[in-house]
Amino acid sequence: MAVKLDGKKLSNEICENLKGEINELKKKGIFPKLAVILVGDDPASQIYVRNKHRRAEKLGIQSLDLHLPRIVTEAELLEKVKELNADPTVHGILVQLPLPKQIDPDKVINAISPFKDADGFHPYNLGRLFMNDPFSIPCTPNGIMHLLKAYDLSVDGKNVVIIGRSKIVGRPLAALMINQSATVTVTHSHTKNLKEITKKADVLVSAVGKAGFIHGEDVKPGAIVIDVGINRNAAGKLVGDVVQKQVEQIAGYLTPVPGGVGPMTIAMLMKQTVELAKWSALKR
Ligand code: NAD
Repeated sequence: MAVKLDGKKLSNEICENLKGEINELKKKGIFPKLAVILVGDDPASQIYVRNKHRRAEKLGIQSLDLHLPRIVTEAELLEKVKELNADPTVHGILVQLPLPKQIDPDKVINAISPFKDADGFHPYNLGRLFMNDPFSIPCTPNGIMHLLKAYDLSVDGKNVVIIGRSKIVGRPLAALMINQSATVTVTHSHTKNLKEITKKADVLVSAVGKAGFIHGEDVKPGAIVIDVGINRNAAGKLVGDVVQKQVEQIAGYLTPVPGGVGPMTIAMLMKQTVELAKWSALKR
């Protein structure tokens, strides 16, 4: 039976430790503040934003929630980002994706100051990550690396297979894994014979977004399996990409859904906001 990689427990521990750091900053007159911009009424985005807000409040991080209407123009959104860049009380800025069709997400991400880039998606930060000199790191991949480290699971020399090449998960995770000396294969929707590749993985990460995508037969015995997917099954229940009941019989370690990668993502966002606040203080 696979060992459960408990992201919920670890994220609580990380956040608990952050409280001390936040109090120290406050004593110095620095009040960490995260600005979150939500455009429109996408129900999933609203839940994500609410969870981020709640976690920040609990920790004593100020959270500025800006809810803009779905019909907002790209120019108006860019103007809002510019204002937040210039506001010295704001340390982290996050624009919740996806954005409505009239707005180019890359333009918006590029407009965020790289030094307030709470999500780590700015090309400057992705470039630094690829140069193995990271500043702000995308939260989901960073959460995965923290989870592995907490369980003393080194990826050095391991065969890591990532399914999904998105800018928010697959690509930055590949860089983090290479930086930790893993041998990395990034697969995606055009990959041929995917199952042959997954079966050779010492560490298998699925970030596809399809329930029931990874079965027991796709996994090498004893492998570490990280389930990034967030899906609703036919019964409306939250599930990952991995058929957990099968894979837990084969894998050595497995992240549950919920309670695995999801909570780690939020913990990393909080940690990053605190780091950005610390950095702003150094600049003074
Ligand atoms: P995305 O849609 O941008 O990327 C999905 C990737 O899967 C693509 O690169 C695509 O090529 C690949 N893919 C699709 N079908 C495939 C197939 N048949 N074979 C191989 N590859 C295939 O999605 P994303 O934003 O990277 O998110 C992926 C999943 O992770 C979603 O379920 C999302 O909700 C979840 N997610 C979870 C967290 C978290 O905190 N737990 C964070 C981000 C994303």
